[in-house]
Amino acid sequence: MLSLQERLQASNQLLATYAIPHQGILGRAHGEPDDETRFPFQRDRDRLIHTRAFRRLKGKTQVFVAGHGDHVRTRLTHTMEVVQISRDIARTLQLNEDLTECIAIAHDLGHPPFGHAGEEGLDEWMKEFGGRFEHNEQSHRIVTLLESHSSLSSGLNLNQEILEGLLKHTTPYDVPCTGATATGAGSMRSPSLEAQVVNLADEIAYTGHDCEDGIRAGLFTLEEILAVPLAKQAHDLTIERGTSLRGSIINVSVMDLYKATSEELASQRINTLEDVGKAVTPLVHLTHSMRKDLDELRGFLSERMYFCPQVRVKSEDGKALIIALCNGLKSKPSNKVIAIQKKTDSSLEEAIKDFVAGMTDQYAVEQKVSW
Ligand code: MG
Repeated sequence: MLSLQERLQASNQLLATYAIPHQGILGRAHGEPDDETRFPFQRDRDRLIHTRAFRRLKGKTQVFVAGHGDHVRTRLTHTMEVVQISRDIARTLQLNEDLTECIAIAHDLGHPPFGHAGEEGLDEWMKEFGGRFEHNEQSHRIVTLLESHSSLSSGLNLNQEILEGLLKHTTPYDVPCTGATATGAGSMRSPSLEAQVVNLADEIAYTGHDCEDGIRAGLFTLEEILAVPLAKQAHDLTIERGTSLRGSIINVSVMDLYKATSEELASQRINTLEDVGKAVTPLVHLTHSMRKDLDELRGFLSERMYFCPQVRVKSEDGKALIIALCNGLKSKPSNKVIAIQKKTDSSLEEAIKDFVAGMTDQYAVEQKVSW
């Protein structure tokens, strides 16, 4: 077996000069001895997979409120699809696949139950107390504070490149966090290419699977969605290959991403990590025409799925339940809330928010029933 240093050197030679090297650059908040068998980002991937927050993603709604069949995406299966797309893109672009995987695994950990409706409910409730709720910040809080890896440091003590990737996670439906944080991970530097890959892989993944889930749920028909140019283009490929619409949407989007990104890296003369950090616009992106087409497809999904009356009614119910749970816990804090407050040295409201945000849909409903 080669030594860690020999393996790091051999693996780094396969990376582009603007990729984050396998040993990382920013390090961990608390230094740790090397693991002779795994690279730093591999260790972080393992820590993330073994968290309770990751396991709970299986019970969290992606778009629908629970109860829509076994094949509709949950946050867990969505996350696995984002991981798969991110890793493929990273490998092809010679970026750090392990780092990309870590950011993708952690990118939705902070999502509360009931999808974006839950997020809205928590944000509204926290605003009463001068706070706010934002799922990217919550993902960061989970891995730096709420989960534990070792009694010697708080949180998972992940490499800072991952924390930076989480805080700079942004898609059309996410709000990037700004400002410095306790870890210094909110700097003005542009996100790593690895983090930028996850941002787009997330959007490509949910656009693809939501088309499939929307048809399955009877919210629209295949014929209806084929009126949208990108869906039509993907469907033509589907017929040619005999594969799924979801797979074809991913394929055409990712192929376009390779084209646009390669041209961008060349035209901006990106050769080093320093060049990436100084870039003022995203380097990983789609061509202008694909961006327009994807936005149009997302517009269709917004109207026919995310904000259709059927989903909206359930979302409103979920939001109301979240607010009721928070109010109930404020007047009578449970032992779990008090334990979180102690562990994180936070206000009662912040601990309630952490507890409720961590719930699965089912657990939240059961809490309501048990009152
Ligand atoms: Mg996501």
